[in-house]
Amino acid sequence: MSSIAFIGLGNMGGPMAANLVSAGHSVRAFDLSEAACAVAKQAGCTVATSAAEAAGGADIVFSMLPSGAIVEAVYLGDDGLLASLPNTTLVIDSSTIAAESARTVWAAADALGIRMIDAPVSGGVAAATAGTLTFICGGREADIDAARPVLEAMGKNVLRAGDSGAGQVAKICNNMLLAVHMIGTAEALALGDAHGVDPAVLSEIMLASSGRNWSLEVYNPWPGVMENAPASKEYQGGFMVDLMHKDLGLALAAAQAEGASTPMGALARSLYALHRQAGNGRLDFSSIQSMLRES
Ligand code: NAD
Repeated sequence: MSSIAFIGLGNMGGPMAANLVSAGHSVRAFDLSEAACAVAKQAGCTVATSAAEAAGGADIVFSMLPSGAIVEAVYLGDDGLLASLPNTTLVIDSSTIAAESARTVWAAADALGIRMIDAPVSGGVAAATAGTLTFICGGREADIDAARPVLEAMGKNVLRAGDSGAGQVAKICNNMLLAVHMIGTAEALALGDAHGVDPAVLSEIMLASSGRNWSLEVYNPWPGVMENAPASKEYQGGFMVDLMHKDLGLALAAAQAEGASTPMGALARSLYALHRQAGNGRLDFSSIQSMLRES
């Protein structure tokens, strides 16, 4: 069992740290929020008063933070964690951030002989709590293999996309596609409804036809069609519009960096920006249905 420092105990990090404790690991946790630390303590983590204190003596340093700027601030510079970690440490960052940012931190770690991987996740708070996340990893194969036992305590899939930063690239490609097929699904259901076709019936037909996709299969955006989907719970829970908007921003920045054309991703981001500006940022992302239905 490993001694793990866990930095960032929010909606995702809190339950992930709890799953590490349940798997028998020793977890020293830190978050700027006292409330998040108190929850982690109840779950069996030891709470540290700083990221550096949490990392002291740890075999593995794990982070689950909101942005690339914060990840860089935590690891880099004179006060950053890398400066004080022994080169036996394995660093795993599961935050969703730009690939460029992940590669910057990886390069600094690599220069010090510290192993690091990027391991953003697919799956929201429910998957973090159930321990069924998918980790999409970038880094050296041996380093991902070393991280695997710890990642498997929090998820059901550990996949390697390529070298450092590739995990972040694969994650935003996936989420860009998710946004596009969710909007397309919502648009088709709204069109059918406008012509009097019951959305539940139309969903069954499209599921048996070539329009079949994940949004239709497990996450139908039309209220009442799928009992357990966020759409049937007033779009509460699930994956927030704010986070989808963030991920689409990362996807577009990545496209711009390589001169790639992502017209559907750009349109999806504009639609989610409008939806967010209308006050829906904290609703599940399938609530884009209400925008298409009303129009
Ligand atoms: P969150 O805002 O709930 O949690 C982030 C935590 O980080 C907060 O508790 C905050 O206090 C803490 N924090 C910020 N700066 C810190 C610092 N310098 N030191 C220590 N702690 C600090 O966010 P979340 O929903 O848990 O998401 C975390 C990451 O996971 C993000 O990158 C997000 O994009 C990604 N993600 C989220 C979901 C989801 O459904 N929530 C799904 C997949 C991926």
